[in-house]
Amino acid sequence: MIKEWESVIGLEVHLQLKTGTKVWCGCKSDYDESGINTHTCPICLGHPGALPKLNKKVLDYAVKAALALNCQINNESGFDRKNYFYPDAPKNYQITQFEKSYAEKGYLEFKLNSGRQVKIGITKVQIEEDTAKAIHGKNESYLNFNRASIPLIEIISDPDMRNSEEAYEYLNTLKNIIKYTKVSDVSMETGSLRCDANISVMEKGSKVFGTRVEVKNLNSFKAVARAIDYEIGRQIELIQNGGKVDQETRLWDEENQITRVMRSKEEAMDYRYFNEPDLLKLVISDEEIEEIKKDMPETRLAKIERFKTNYSLDEKDALILTEEVELSDYFEEVVKYSNNAKLSSTGF
Ligand SMILES: [Zn+2]
Repeated sequence: MIKEWESVIGLEVHLQLKTGTKVWCGCKSDYDESGINTHTCPICLGHPGALPKLNKKVLDYAVKAALALNCQINNESGFDRKNYFYPDAPKNYQITQFEKSYAEKGYLEFKLNSGRQVKIGITKVQIEEDTAKAIHGKNESYLNFNRASIPLIEIISDPDMRNSEEAYEYLNTLKNIIKYTKVSDVSMETGSLRCDANISVMEKGSKVFGTRVEVKNLNSFKAVARAIDYEIGRQIELIQNGGKVDQETRLWDEENQITRVMRSKEEAMDYRYFNEPDLLKLVISDEEIEEIKKDMPETRLAKIERFKTNYSLDEKDALILTEEVELSDYFEEVVKYSNNAKLSSTGF
């Protein structure tokens, strides 16, 4: 009997927040344009005894992003140390949120090409710091600490996606929604958006998920979709041939369009998380959340309605013009000069 299979996909997305300064110190956070190791201090270089302090703007931006993702904001959460040795982590640990994150229980909704509406849950969103950037030459490696301690949020989805199209559209929707909030550049090209995928397969109708594999090194949304398709095929073939899927981390090989083993479960690190003793509990009051809500830029949904009302556009034009926030801004600029919204809406 030929078995039918179902795949289960969850995505972990890292976003750099465009706060201008780093998360625990006042160093500038534009690491790409400003040379190498030019924006560093004892705090982001991890000198012993240097004390971190949370940048208020990080909290504002992180809350804005989480609200846009329909999350619940927790009044109390905290920071934890994820301990590991790697040259790009000068403190030998990363400050993150492990025990309790500042936001959870969100969701994203979008339509697939078939017209089917999909709703994907977001387990949690956490604040953490970026690592330094490692650049590997032929016989040497370089480290740029301008990226160390740039603020990140990690958005962890529920394992709700069932194929690569859903994952692709999830990422597109997330990108467009965050762009509207203006808290991140959300660009995979420049590294301000990074994504890892967790993929498993199970027999159709099963309630128990299969062993999941984490795929890293994905550098475009298309690569995410292709890696998912490849990995689903690989896992099904493996099981059908009597093998079993190992819990491991694999890397996407763009050149050969395959995934390769990076590390197995046996090699998985024990990070020995514990509460960060140098930072206070993270308290966000309801009043603060309300203040941030008031300061949120217009959402796409609100803009669609406004375009229909103010410019007498039909649904289709309003949808096209608001898909990317830059295009909607450009359109409004053009209308200022043309005074003819209908005419200005054509040609896009
Ligand atoms: Zn610094």
